[in-house]
Amino acid sequence: MDNLEIADRLEAFAALLELAEANPYTARAYRRAAETIRGAGMPVAELVQSGRVRELRGIGPGIEARLRELVETGEIAELAELERELAPDLVGLGRYLGLGARRSVDLARALGVRTADELREAAAPGRLRTVPGIGPKTETRLLEALSREGEPRPRQGLLLNRAWELVGGIASALDGEPAGDVRRWRDSCERLAVVCATADPPPVLGRFDTLPQIVAVVEQGERHAVGVTVEGVPVELVVVDPERFGTALVRATGSPAYVAALEPLPDAPDEEGVYRALGVPWCPPELREEPFRGEPPPLVELIDIRGDLHSHTTWSDGRASVEEMGRTAQERGYDYLAICDHTPAVGAVHGLTPDEVRRQAEEIAAANEVLDPFRILRGIECDILPDGRLDLPDDVLAELDWVQASVHGGQRMPRDEMTKRVEEALRNPHVRCLSHPKGRYINRRPENALDLERVFEVALEEQVALEVNGLPDRLDLRGEHVRDALRAGLQIVCSTDAHSVRGLGNMTLAVATARRGWATVADVVNTRSLREILPR
Ligand SMILES: [Zn+2]
Ligand SMILES: [Zn+2]
Repeated sequence: MDNLEIADRLEAFAALLELAEANPYTARAYRRAAETIRGAGMPVAELVQSGRVRELRGIGPGIEARLRELVETGEIAELAELERELAPDLVGLGRYLGLGARRSVDLARALGVRTADELREAAAPGRLRTVPGIGPKTETRLLEALSREGEPRPRQGLLLNRAWELVGGIASALDGEPAGDVRRWRDSCERLAVVCATADPPPVLGRFDTLPQIVAVVEQGERHAVGVTVEGVPVELVVVDPERFGTALVRATGSPAYVAALEPLPDAPDEEGVYRALGVPWCPPELREEPFRGEPPPLVELIDIRGDLHSHTTWSDGRASVEEMGRTAQERGYDYLAICDHTPAVGAVHGLTPDEVRRQAEEIAAANEVLDPFRILRGIECDILPDGRLDLPDDVLAELDWVQASVHGGQRMPRDEMTKRVEEALRNPHVRCLSHPKGRYINRRPENALDLERVFEVALEEQVALEVNGLPDRLDLRGEHVRDALRAGLQIVCSTDAHSVRGLGNMTLAVATARRGWATVADVVNTRSLREILPR
């Protein structure tokens, strides 16, 4: 068993524990262990056999016992039993149709069906109404959902990291390519698709059906299928002849408006061939939102990034030390990392007082000696108080290499008040960058009312950069706003806001979001050398 297989089984176990309404901490622990195993540099099965698996982070005696059982027998007995009891295929189908987990299983039991297909059959002749708790309204809604036309969509868009994990995992298992919203790096993904090239579709369609991520197939044709995850999220599979692979990939990647503007698409084995035959320059997937046939700009790439300017440590709410964060950034090939812990007004977590900021400087200096020539910068994520003042005195800010200013509390302020508040903060000469300007949490909190146009004017006057925050539930500024900022003549910073060493990996998301806003190397502050970044 390789690490990915082991991780998938643990992930499935976690999902079923959640369905069974077990202790949420247990489910979370299994998910974390799955993540660790996915990222482990050595074969976990060997570590289990040699009794060393607990050296991995987050693996305690309970999970070790499960891993031993899995490696030795190829299965976790309790997982198999939970799968029988909870019928994840029914739960996945039920959730896709808008029912809760319990209700889906109750419904299936009452109808005496065991699989998604049987549920569909039983639903047709009016038997749904005979189930206690299902009234005519719910029946109508379910029947509509079961026979739904058009493209399948999840009830709520998936966060980009989760969407990549899901679609990327399925694509690699089927030897296909991720497509849909994920490949355009949309901040919230609704169309999840995988395109596979083969002259012989049935085996690929068959394998799709048995993937651990897919609990039920809700639609199947000769060259396409739609499966759902246990969360009820639909994933499309498109299977095409190798000679038409490029065509299918262009079609499954672009937004409907983008693709429609290129149609009719010529057949070609790869995307380059499609664009060549159309006489249109190849277009990076991130720009395939609006119809566009021109020469795309040379977009910034991950490899252009020379440092990360927003990260946290155990001094505030991060999980790693200054040195651990620095070392990981160095291993990523960066030249520098700014530690930007919180200030007291952040409230919910610990924020640094002036005294702590100065004590942290000693720890940063010590880490810099160890990591030389890599450089950890003394930074801060300074709260912007409701009246626009900053949460640390100017003499403290003046000592620092990099000051991020952030609104945390009071995101619901009216537009004028919020804009004045941020404007005031940008006027402080020590501020270099405005963090997560719109303050949203995708699917959880809408954007604030900040007047970006006005903020861009002030930021330009004060030479303050705007952040593209790479936390998967923030991605703030988002692509459209990045483009507005660049048009206004501003610079952006691609940051991770990492709270752990792993969090530094979210640079991919920050860079992709900048690319969606048409950013080139020259637009991004942290593509520059340290010398160019240090205080003016
Ligand atoms: Zn923040
Ligand atoms: Zn932060």
